[in-house]
Amino acid sequence: MRVSVVLFTADLRLHDHPPLRAALESSDAVVPLFVRDPAVETAGFAAPNRCAFLDDCLADLDTALRERGGRLVVRSGDPAWEVCRVAAGTGAVEVHMAAECSAFAARREERLRTALERDGRRLSVHDTVTTVVPPGLLTPAASDHFAVFTPYHRHWAQVPPRPVYGAPRTVPVPGTARGERLPAGRRGAATSPGLPPGGESRARAEVTAYWRRGLDSYDTTRDDLAADATSRLSAHLHFGTLSPVELVHRARRRGGAGAEAFVRQLAWRDFHRQVLAARPHAAHADYRTKGDHWRSEDTASADIDAWREGRTGYPVVDAAMRQLRHEGWMHNRARLLTASFLTKTLYVDWRIGAAHFLYWLVDGDLANNQLNWQWMAGTGNDTRPNRVLNPLAQARKYDPRGDYVRRWVPELAGLRAPSVHAPWRLPGEERAALDYPDPIVSLSDGLDRFRHARGRGTRP
Ligand code: FAD
Repeated sequence: MRVSVVLFTADLRLHDHPPLRAALESSDAVVPLFVRDPAVETAGFAAPNRCAFLDDCLADLDTALRERGGRLVVRSGDPAWEVCRVAAGTGAVEVHMAAECSAFAARREERLRTALERDGRRLSVHDTVTTVVPPGLLTPAASDHFAVFTPYHRHWAQVPPRPVYGAPRTVPVPGTARGERLPAGRRGAATSPGLPPGGESRARAEVTAYWRRGLDSYDTTRDDLAADATSRLSAHLHFGTLSPVELVHRARRRGGAGAEAFVRQLAWRDFHRQVLAARPHAAHADYRTKGDHWRSEDTASADIDAWREGRTGYPVVDAAMRQLRHEGWMHNRARLLTASFLTKTLYVDWRIGAAHFLYWLVDGDLANNQLNWQWMAGTGNDTRPNRVLNPLAQARKYDPRGDYVRRWVPELAGLRAPSVHAPWRLPGEERAALDYPDPIVSLSDGLDRFRHARGRGTRP
């Protein structure tokens, strides 16, 4: 009997899964394997919200496999070592897995390949599992990656995505495959109270619902903070319970300006992945340094705490930071303006903000998070690195009635726009009656500090 192993990582689904498809085509039985890697915890990446969401994804994957005559095999330990043990125990000749873009994933893949080849086994790595267009496929003449989104997108849109594969009807798993109990129950005091459930079946239902509810108007509503009209599929894309290739096909089939704008956002996702694959250090260091002398925990701890806790005195910033903690998710427009506030107005190191986001975000993703932070900090791929988002102007434009602020900042629930966005401007008694802080920085002071530090390259 010919056996293959399918190592699941950030691709926790059965639909449109090239590694599983290839394994089933070439083998009589398949071991669907997930390895819980302690190195992920040591690296600080196993944040409570994502651990809880992961448990849901694994449980759902196991259920779907059982409906097809199989089961998920879960092991804990070094992936290279555990995969080799499972392959040896089941007599598997080949291991299939998805390509990923981080330095961590590249090292894991290399160690696994070496270990398997030592035992006379083969590793097959499949692209277009977690991206639509693989990193490195599109390159400009003079570089190994695109540094600017617009030309990248032009080329990206010309690449025909591969066809979509259905979920297999049966997945025969050899009886010799041994695993542990599924992890469970990691939802609790440390996780966000509004954390959504994970898993492929849930993800597919959400796509169907969004196609009915919001896709057609995505282009016009995506920046409206209170409407909350984006897809909220980001965590499913991060854990791979949805295939980006399938989403592109489905959106293009639907057609229209909303679907087109949605597909463009999926191109942003691929864009950041090809940057990170080519420049792995951009996860931690400036992609394009400007010699900033950022304020840090040592020099700005009170400001940083106020930002983290949603008590900066700027209602739209505070609403967003509270949404993050409550839901483990934040609207894209809110991510932009809170990142601008931290890096440009408070002139705090983008890494501090990125780490806070990575702790709370259920979709927390090295490529998307670090590179979007760098974009906003002006150290990344933005062609206008000195761009500053004024929180008041953003609030008036993207939350004109103040509904978003009132939803997340109950202290201001009795105020209407425009006061709800600038409560410090209320007359004395009304202002004094509010249990809400004054702004921790004046916007012009913050900006002066930013310009001064940038212009001179000296510490503000
Ligand atoms: P939709 O608007 O419905 O978009 C559909 C999908 O397109 C998203 O699910 C996402 O996969 C992708 N997408 C949308 N916008 C972007 C973008 N700017 N860059 C890359 N991909 C995008 N996204 C993450 O998935 N993980 C992160 O850790 C993350 N951190 C961010 C940090 C900052 C400072 C900023 C400004 C943005 C960050 N984003 C991140 C990108 C974006 O904010 C989220 O993908 C989006 O808000 C998720 O909500 P949604 O699924 O409703 O998105």
